[in-house]
Amino acid sequence: MIQNMLSGRKSNITFQTFLSGMPSRDYVFQQTPYEEQIRQAAKMLKEADYILIGAGAGLSTAAGLTMGGARFTENFKEFIEKYDGPYMRDMYSAGFYPFPSEEAKWGYWSKNGMVNRVLPGVLPLYKKVYRLAENKRHFVLTTNVDYQFFLCGFDEKNVFATQGDYGRIQCRKGCHPKTYDAIKMFQQMDQAREGCMVPSYMVPKCPVCGGPMEMNLRCDQYFVEDDAWHEAEKRFGEFLGECEEKKTVLLELGAGFNTPTIIRFPFEKLMRVHKNMSLIRLNLDEAVIPASFGERAVGINADMGKSIGDLLEEVSGHDER
Ligand SMILES: [Zn+2]
Repeated sequence: MIQNMLSGRKSNITFQTFLSGMPSRDYVFQQTPYEEQIRQAAKMLKEADYILIGAGAGLSTAAGLTMGGARFTENFKEFIEKYDGPYMRDMYSAGFYPFPSEEAKWGYWSKNGMVNRVLPGVLPLYKKVYRLAENKRHFVLTTNVDYQFFLCGFDEKNVFATQGDYGRIQCRKGCHPKTYDAIKMFQQMDQAREGCMVPSYMVPKCPVCGGPMEMNLRCDQYFVEDDAWHEAEKRFGEFLGECEEKKTVLLELGAGFNTPTIIRFPFEKLMRVHKNMSLIRLNLDEAVIPASFGERAVGINADMGKSIGDLLEEVSGHDER
């Protein structure tokens, strides 16, 4: 009796459904030579009506905004000496350090704001990305928080930065749906910082609840999605709606596996559903492509400093290096 009850329950989970319908051998590195891949990708871009750029951390790294190495050890020397320990590996990890006071927290974040948001200016590689897309109807979806897409030429109406901005702050508890420009504050803090701390009078307070403020970066449930965020989300939805009818290239730049649910996986889902779309995936070492996409996808495993330049040269017909 018990055995019958058990065997009578038929599971719907099989290896195929577990793999979301993708064959287990599907995710492959393409064997096509680099030059041929660049030609294929350039052809896709030239023939496209619409370009949807999806950009992750790899693009900013390739553009020069590396989070570790000399940029970290040189700019954050006194922080590394003061706060020793596992957090002080790079700027990303250091952001998670349990700073002992608000003065210490803003000491760090004002420095980060200067190094990653205020001082770099527009980076040449981002300008090239703009030139790849400027002549087509385009939109940018990015998890990057360094504001480069807004500096390099794209109209802010065509950019959706989902994860925040190194130059904006919000209430720690997200008590009201607003974010605040912090650039001037960071510049003043940068002048006044001593021993990695800012003076107490400079510590920002929430204008509504009076509590502490925080960076406007998505790291917990209190992340504030303000009016501009929601407008960008709406415009992105409208663009996607138009893409359904048009020859669309998904140009994925350096979107790895930190938050693959925002760009990488949705792009693959779009590819499976919409046969009018093609995918160009540029990544330093994670350009694996579902083989079932066939000739609709190109995955170029290379330094994007080179591959984006080569792609632009092939598309524009001039020497861009
Ligand atoms: Zn508040």
